[in-house]
Amino acid sequence: MARRHFDRVRITRLMTPIPWHLLPDNSSLGANGQLVVGGCDTLELAAEFGTPVFVYDEEHLRNRCRQAVQAFGRNATYATKAFLCVAMARLVHEEGMRLDVATGGELAVVLAADVPPEDIVLHGNNKSRRELAEALEVGVGRIVVDSFEELDRIEDLVTSGANPPKVLLRLTPGVKAVTHEFIATGQDDSKFGFTVSSGLATQAVDRAAASGAVELVGVHCHIGSQVFRVDSFARALEVIGRFAAPLDLPELVIGGGLGVAYVEGEEAASISQWGTTLKQAANDVGISAAIGIEPGRSITAAAAVTLYEVGVIKHLDGIRTYLAVDGGMSDNPRPVLYGSGYETFLAREAAADRDMVAKVVGKHCESGDVLVNEGKLPSTVAVGDIIGTPVTGAYGHSMGSNYNKVLRPPVVFCRDGDARLVVRRETYGDLLASDLG
Ligand SMILES: *Cc1c(COP(=O)(O)O)cnc(C)c1O
Repeated sequence: MARRHFDRVRITRLMTPIPWHLLPDNSSLGANGQLVVGGCDTLELAAEFGTPVFVYDEEHLRNRCRQAVQAFGRNATYATKAFLCVAMARLVHEEGMRLDVATGGELAVVLAADVPPEDIVLHGNNKSRRELAEALEVGVGRIVVDSFEELDRIEDLVTSGANPPKVLLRLTPGVKAVTHEFIATGQDDSKFGFTVSSGLATQAVDRAAASGAVELVGVHCHIGSQVFRVDSFARALEVIGRFAAPLDLPELVIGGGLGVAYVEGEEAASISQWGTTLKQAANDVGISAAIGIEPGRSITAAAAVTLYEVGVIKHLDGIRTYLAVDGGMSDNPRPVLYGSGYETFLAREAAADRDMVAKVVGKHCESGDVLVNEGKLPSTVAVGDIIGTPVTGAYGHSMGSNYNKVLRPPVVFCRDGDARLVVRRETYGDLLASDLG
């Protein structure tokens, strides 16, 4: 009983509605208090498309692209690994961004969206000969070269007389973002890029500059992901700018990595603020090259919520309450992979105080299949209710799997009250399509 009392005290202190700023830009409350995203009633979306479902606020996505383009023009490149489907590639291109791909598969999807190859940038630390050949064949705009082996492969593929591809060299500046801080690491322990401190970067520059198979146009670095402090990027720019200054190359790309708020209490800079800081830093260092950015998460994460149906509620007296939904680590592996936190809301009463805490788990055959460790919800939540997790627009759908032969959820773009199904739910037929029996 003492424990029960403790729980009640704790719950009262925690009782808050979902922080509204974590929801997509165009979120509102419907007549009955239900969450509406992009003019679409989330309860109706769940009924029409089933659950789990990824619901994106299309205007939110477009707005973030516009912020990036406003700050960096054509040098704003969307990192497709955060979230990619044909509709997304098209949207990003319509808004004027270029697109980063890191595999032949991402390249195929972006090409299927009719993005002109010159607006595509090929990344990857181990591009296969085949991926390079495909990229050269269609004529991608830039290749970001990561290793000497890759230079070998390109030299092998680009026959004399052919147009050499424009390349940037990915550099490891010897500094990286760790736990929201920018620290200088003694050595460059990374699988990516050419290390500046060991002289490999200089060797790579010399070799690329002398090679007839590539046209060296710039340098690139990416310090990490989910970085909250924008001054971290300014520091990286300083280091990379100092290295690049004597080379006098026209382009310098500082990567992606801008953090976003996932849970109550977190605050993140906007893409516009990031842009202002980077431009100021570039000015201060005297960088004359055009600065490029590659945001992924900051474009897509907060644009989406995932809706689930509650299937089981298990109260363990004095221990905790488990709330099992119809998705899990297959649609959002981030909690399992990184211990990432999320918030929860009850779709039919989205602004209600959340006076109960439950461990929100999925339907996979693993105890570790957790979506939200301490999910706050109104205690009226019942089996059959639709609950949601906000800020699931990045690295959820794209990192999803078919674990347990679960069908990957559909993706719906909502705008001005129109719900557009852009990725349908998988079928058992999809699961068997590549299985030759
Ligand atoms: C992952 C990645 C990005 C995007 O990172 P976000 O944290 O999603 O903004 C950009 N550039 C490179 C090279 C990356 O690997």
